[in-house]
Amino acid sequence: MHHFSMDKWVDFARGMPPDEAAEMRIHLDRGCPECRQSLQTWQTISALVAREAAYQPSGSVVETVKAAFNSEKRWAWLAQIAQMARLVFDSFQQAEPAMMRGFPQPSRQLVHESEPFVIDLRLESDPLRKRISLLGQILNSRYPENAIRGVDVILLRGEDVIQKTSTNPLGEFVLEFGRDENLRLFINIRGQRAIGIVLPEVEN
Ligand SMILES: [Zn+2]
Repeated sequence: MHHFSMDKWVDFARGMPPDEAAEMRIHLDRGCPECRQSLQTWQTISALVAREAAYQPSGSVVETVKAAFNSEKRWAWLAQIAQMARLVFDSFQQAEPAMMRGFPQPSRQLVHESEPFVIDLRLESDPLRKRISLLGQILNSRYPENAIRGVDVILLRGEDVIQKTSTNPLGEFVLEFGRDENLRLFINIRGQRAIGIVLPEVEN
């Protein structure tokens, strides 16, 4: 029997039916236990992530999910359900090539969008300490007065959590980390959106 991949079921569970949604429903109706299990797991997870801390989810849901996955892996699910933000501005792409060569810029500004949210990032490298600081701010472009406070911000390398923080009342956050590759930032705006951003490699 032809099954559907996990990412298809993730989309299906999130209420964003993929093109194959009709075939997927027929497949479920025919009673494929594996795919039914996948869908149930992802429905539970996406509901839990969406509602996390908005109110206390019922104990049984939490226990079910905890039994299946440990807490570190929790952020890996976030990566699975996150919607990748679109890069709309990169100060390095605006800079003059000659300036880039002669005078290394102290900071790099990146702006990402995942409507209605806008994520402003400033990466600053400290060559002496070989550390990079990331200052970020999350704004709601549709309702700017709605502060994005207390939102979880997680830095992952692959599936490993490097750092986790949350936004202040102005929607700002700060992370500091060593130079690394394959860093991804995830922002969990509870009940609304999980947003993913692939960070560029930073030279220092
Ligand atoms: Zn199946």
